[in-house]
Amino acid sequence: MSSKAAALPGQKGLERFLCLGSGWTTLCGVSIDSAWEAPEGSWASSAARRRNMQAIRSRDTEPEKLVRRLVHAQGLRYRVAARPLPDLRRTADLVFRPTKVAVFIDGCYWHGCPEHYVSPKTNSGYWSDKVLRNITRDRDTDQKLQEAGWLVLRFWEHEPSASCAQQITDTVLARRARMSES
Ligand SMILES: [Zn+2]
Repeated sequence: MSSKAAALPGQKGLERFLCLGSGWTTLCGVSIDSAWEAPEGSWASSAARRRNMQAIRSRDTEPEKLVRRLVHAQGLRYRVAARPLPDLRRTADLVFRPTKVAVFIDGCYWHGCPEHYVSPKTNSGYWSDKVLRNITRDRDTDQKLQEAGWLVLRFWEHEPSASCAQQITDTVLARRARMSES
C-alpha cells in the first residue's frame, strides 16, 4: 500500500491558497479574494485563472527587474520590496530610505490601468471587488506616505522601463541635492 494513497483532507485547497496568497501578499500586501468564483469552464473562469497566474508571477516582474537594473546602473542603491514605514504594512517595489522616495510599479490588471484593465463580464460593476480594493488601498498608501514626508512614484508595468528608471533617478538625485543644501 502506498503511503501517498490517503491524501490529507483539504490539502489541495490549502496549497492553492498558499500559492495564491504568497504571490499576492508579496505584490500588494492584501490577502486573496475568494468571494468571487466564475463557473467552471466558462470564459471568465479561464480568464480568472490566468489572472491568478499573472499575480503569482508578478512577484518579480520583468518590467520591475529591468527598472531596478537600470536604476542600479545609475549608481543608486535601494531596498527591494520593503516597507517605507516599518509600522505600515505597505510594501513598495523600490525604497530609497535616505531621500524618502517610494516607487511602486503597478500591475496593469490588479491596479486598474486605464489602458489595460478589463472589466469582468460576470460582475455588475466596472471594477472587480479586488481591483477596487487595491485602488482604494493604493491611494491610501500614497496619502499615508506623503503625510510622513515621503515622495511616492507610481508607474504602470506597461510603461517603458528606461523612462521609469530615468524619472526615478532624477527624482532621487534632486531630493538628495535638496537635502544636502538644507
Ligand atoms: Zn497598462
